Order: sequence, then C-alpha cells, then structure tokens
Amino acid sequence: MGKIGVVGGGLMGSGIAFHLSSQLEDRIIIHEVSEEAFAGTRQRFDRFGKNAIKRGVEEEIVNNWINKIEYTTSIEELADCSLVIEAVYENLQVKQEIFKKLEAVVSDKAILATNTSGISISEIGSVMKHPERFIGTHFFNPVPVMKLVELITGIHTQQETIDEIRNLCEKINKEVVVSNDFPGFIVTRIGQAMMCEAVRCLEQGVAMVEDIDNGMKLGYNYPMGPLALMDLIGLDTELKIQQSLFEEFGEVFRPSPLLKNMVAGGLLGRKSGRGFYNYE
Ligand code: NAD
Repeated sequence: MGKIGVVGGGLMGSGIAFHLSSQLEDRIIIHEVSEEAFAGTRQRFDRFGKNAIKRGVEEEIVNNWINKIEYTTSIEELADCSLVIEAVYENLQVKQEIFKKLEAVVSDKAILATNTSGISISEIGSVMKHPERFIGTHFFNPVPVMKLVELITGIHTQQETIDEIRNLCEKINKEVVVSNDFPGFIVTRIGQAMMCEAVRCLEQGVAMVEDIDNGMKLGYNYPMGPLALMDLIGLDTELKIQQSLFEEFGEVFRPSPLLKNMVAGGLLGRKSGRGFYNYE
C-alpha cells in the first residue's frame, strides 16, 4: 500500500501498527494527540515485541519492526497514506471529526477505515465526501495474536474497497469475515447474546460460575467460558455493550441486575481484581 497510517496509539492502534509493521515492507506511521501519549504506545510496542521474541522471533528482527514505525502528532503527515486505520476512543463525534480532517489531507484514492467495535459505519461515514472508500476493520485484542478481522460494510462501501482490504488482511496473515452494518456486527452480537444468558443462568441459580464456564468450554469446545471472557473484557465495558445492544434489539440483551450491581460495586473483572472470579 506504500504508506499506512494508524490514528490513535492506544491498546488497539499500537497493536495494529505493530502487526502491520511485522508483516509488511510498507512504511507505517502512527498519529496521536500529543508526544506524551506516545509513551504508552512505545510501552505497548515493547510488550508486543517481547511476546514475539517468546514466540521465537529474533530480537533484531523485532527491533526492526518497531524502529520502522514513524510517529506524528500532525495529521497532515498522513497525506501520502493510501490507507489510514482509525483506532481512537469509541465516540461517534470524535471519529467523525478525525475522518473529516483525514479526507481534507489524503488523496481521493485512499481508503479510510475504522476499528470501531460497535458504532455504525454508515453513521460515521455520513460526514464523509467519499464513504464508498470507507470501511470498518474490526481487529481483536491482542492484535498480533488474534486471527480475525471483521470487515463491516457501510451503506456506501464499494466492493473495490472490500476487495482491497481483504487482500491486505490476507497479506498480514489475518482471516476475514464480512458483516453488514448492524449493531454488534457478527461477533459482538452473537457473543453478547451468550454472555447475557450466562449471567442470567448464574443469577437464577441454574448453576455455579465454574459449571457454566466448563459447560460451554467442554460442550462447545470454546477455549474460555463466557463468564471468564466477560472478566477479561471488563464488566463495565460489557455493561455498556449490552446496554447499547438492548436499545437496538430488546429483551435478549437486557443487562442483568446482577451485572449492574457488580459494576456499581467496583467488581469489574480482571482489571479490578474481582469479577465472576477472584484474581487477587
Ligand atoms: P484506547 O483508549 O486504548 O486508545 C485510544 C487512543 O486514541 C488514545 O491513546 C488516545 O490518546 C488516542 N486519541 C484520542 N483522540 C485522538 C485523536 N483525535 N487523534 C489521535 N489519537 C487520538 O482505546 P482502544 O481500546 O485502543 O480502542 C480503540 C478503538 O478500538 C475503539 O473504537 C474501540 O471500541 C475499538 N476496539 C477495542 C477493542 C479492545 O479490546 N480494547 C477491541 C476491538 C475494537
């Protein structure tokens, strides 16, 4: 693609930039709001690098991947990118502002993509001049390890845009699924339905935490049970996702009072030390 830009050097942006740099010869440039914000980005590159070394990659090669990535706080420096992937906060207005600014600097041929986990692609794209070259590229955390990229097509996304991004994903060793622009896309919608039901089973006394998780692990061959996965994602994040799916689809996604109480009481999963399991 020549040069690829990533906007936002947080958890996902740094994962995406690191992975792209490890798989492609192309120049990778990452954009953040301030020089200070890059401290966290660099730490995450370091962590991804160490994990790659553990998986058997030579240290020198990993250092080359990291050193190849350029940093900028000026969006104008993304002007010659043929692809820019945005991975900033999950907020419609913030994302729309970024795409308006990006369109003002990149060429009409560039593809713009968002890593949103739930906002409508058509809605983000409604402020754009070229929504036909705009697409959702939903990477999963941790990006260097997780195989999936869920592509989401907005109402105006062209087939050519989907094909170009699908080719790129193959080059970077990811598997693609394509979803139309519905709330929760494929993975979040189906996954959350299961997670809501798992919490309801716990709440209604159908079974204990371990039995629910082991039932799903052994019965469906999932690597992790739904309650352990919720702890990993964070119960506050889970509650927000379920609330927004509930608004769209109703009963199936109604957040359980148990989940609400746990979040109110600071039991947020791994990040707080306690959730459905105790990590302290
Ligand atoms: P994060 O909070 O770790 O990172 C967001 C980064 O964006 C911050 O470093 C912030 O400084 C930067 N930023 C904010 N405004 C900016 C701007 N105007 N220009 C440049 N940078 C800006 O968030 P994250 O977890 O990396 O999530 C990013 C996106 O990816 C969100 O849309 C989220 O829903 C989605 N997502 C997250 C996950 C996950 O597991 N965390 C998984 C899939 C998708």
